[in-house]
Amino acid sequence: MQKNDIVKVVIEDVGVGGEGIGKVNGYTLFIKDAIIGDVVEAKVMKAKKNYGYARLMNILTPSEYRVEKPVCQVARKCGGCQIQEMKYDRQLEFKNQKVRGNLMRIGEVPEQLLDRIMEPIVGMDETEGLGGPYHYRNKAQFPIGIDKDGNIVTGFYAGRTHSIISNTNCALGVEINEQILKLILDFMKEYHISAYDEGKHQGLVRHVLIRYGFTTKEIMVCLVINGGGLPHGEVLAKRLAKIEGMTSVTLSINKEKTNVIMGNVIKPLWGQMYITDYIGNVKYQISPLSFFQVNPVQTEKLYKLALEYSGLNDVSCGNPSDKVVWDLYCGIGTISLFLAQKAGKVYGVEIVPQAIDDARNNAKINEIENAEFFVGKAEEVLPQYYEDYAKEHGGETAHADVIVVDPPRKGCEETLLQTMVDMQPERIVYVSCDSATLARDVKFLRGNGYELERVRAVDQFPHTVHVETVVQLSLKKDTPKIEVIMEPEEESNYTPKGKASYSNIKKYVKDKYGVNVHSRYIAEVKRLCGLEMGENYRKSKKENPDIKYCPPQKKEYIKEALRYFGALA
Ligand code: SAH
Repeated sequence: MQKNDIVKVVIEDVGVGGEGIGKVNGYTLFIKDAIIGDVVEAKVMKAKKNYGYARLMNILTPSEYRVEKPVCQVARKCGGCQIQEMKYDRQLEFKNQKVRGNLMRIGEVPEQLLDRIMEPIVGMDETEGLGGPYHYRNKAQFPIGIDKDGNIVTGFYAGRTHSIISNTNCALGVEINEQILKLILDFMKEYHISAYDEGKHQGLVRHVLIRYGFTTKEIMVCLVINGGGLPHGEVLAKRLAKIEGMTSVTLSINKEKTNVIMGNVIKPLWGQMYITDYIGNVKYQISPLSFFQVNPVQTEKLYKLALEYSGLNDVSCGNPSDKVVWDLYCGIGTISLFLAQKAGKVYGVEIVPQAIDDARNNAKINEIENAEFFVGKAEEVLPQYYEDYAKEHGGETAHADVIVVDPPRKGCEETLLQTMVDMQPERIVYVSCDSATLARDVKFLRGNGYELERVRAVDQFPHTVHVETVVQLSLKKDTPKIEVIMEPEEESNYTPKGKASYSNIKKYVKDKYGVNVHSRYIAEVKRLCGLEMGENYRKSKKENPDIKYCPPQKKEYIKEALRYFGALA
């Protein structure tokens, strides 16, 4: 095969980037925009020894999975969508297969296990949101530039480039974007405000950020500028303010020669500095620099799934108000606050300090008091906490009931996974935006005492190749469990008063019957009553003959205390 060859190809597979894959006399070609089932004519652009890349020239026979006409006119050129021309059902199948394939190949998860536990991918229904799998994004960042005729334009970058494809009507964004962008472009023309030229690092307006609260209908507009201020900014603000729902108009100052979009200084132009929106019943304040999930409809489903997989809603797992949960990579505390409503205590860890400011603020406005946030790297904060805990508690191990992780694409570091395993949570819920690194980490966890129990992909980004996955891992029943006994001092930090805490039970029994009950006895009774999941208590007795069982009388006292504090029926 040689460059510029024109070949006829039957597309037989989909690559990880959504491209079509076909073979010509045993030679593999990757063809962007070709869809599995298509027969196409393609021009070879790059030919390596065993495979090459070709450009789609003509569709000879369209696949049954091909849409008749994509919703967006620039779907092929624009870098935003990769698979808009593929029917939505087929997109979902592709994403599900991608997750499954990675778990099998990289994660070495047996196929039979996946057959049994993998649940169907969660897609978007046409009736949901503002247009089902279209118009789902609550945030868009439009670059502003000049076209070859010198006109100010906005749109999206073409795939892998920084040339702007003019388009104010993105099929994934909200409708109001178009009106706002036109208003801004008209204003710029009228007042001779320059667009930023990346090459020359000249000109003023670089990007327009628009955010929309799906529940509140509040709108935010933030102009990213290469300068200290916007001439006639008050005129623009006044015009934007007339749009129904406009809540916040700001400037973001970015004078750097960089392709980072936002500048860190935010100046007000009109209204508030933030908008408010909801995921489920939790309220979030979102400022121009805040990270917030872009597809609120699917995010709610994702978080509900994370909650379900955490087992905190499951009565058989004991009293949720006793549960200690860690939410690692917590961002602005979205998952933390969702889970805090069902847990005793939630600890969130996030590397970006501003996100933690948002998380604390979001906890406050929702009157959630049992969530605590730490700034730092998850792989440093958790191991450090574990180490300090042991030092402060005479060698005892820090325990968590549930650990949730939602890392960026690179997944979790092994030091973190090891600490998680050491903490022996009953459940690990792993939310992932890259199923390859998820699979790698699942392999580690399966090799260290955890079993994969549930897997479900969620389509957060229809028409792109991205897919989110949530998995549940549970501590294997036959894993020797380290005894976790909480002493009053430590547990009083995170167990609300009046609950079936160790200290309350001890006090209750002491006050009523004048005897002391050891934490170990309480742990034993809790387990016998199914309030804690440590099925291995008896096993640890075998390994450590010094452990004494709780005498029957004290057992009854403890049970009575558990009933008194509402932990036992
Ligand atoms: N769970 C949140 C955010 C997930 S995105 C939500 O659903 O909204 C991943 C987050 O991990 C980002 O906020 C990123 O800033 C953070 N992050 C990246 N590396 C990290 C690390 N090493 N330790 C902790 N947080 C990290």
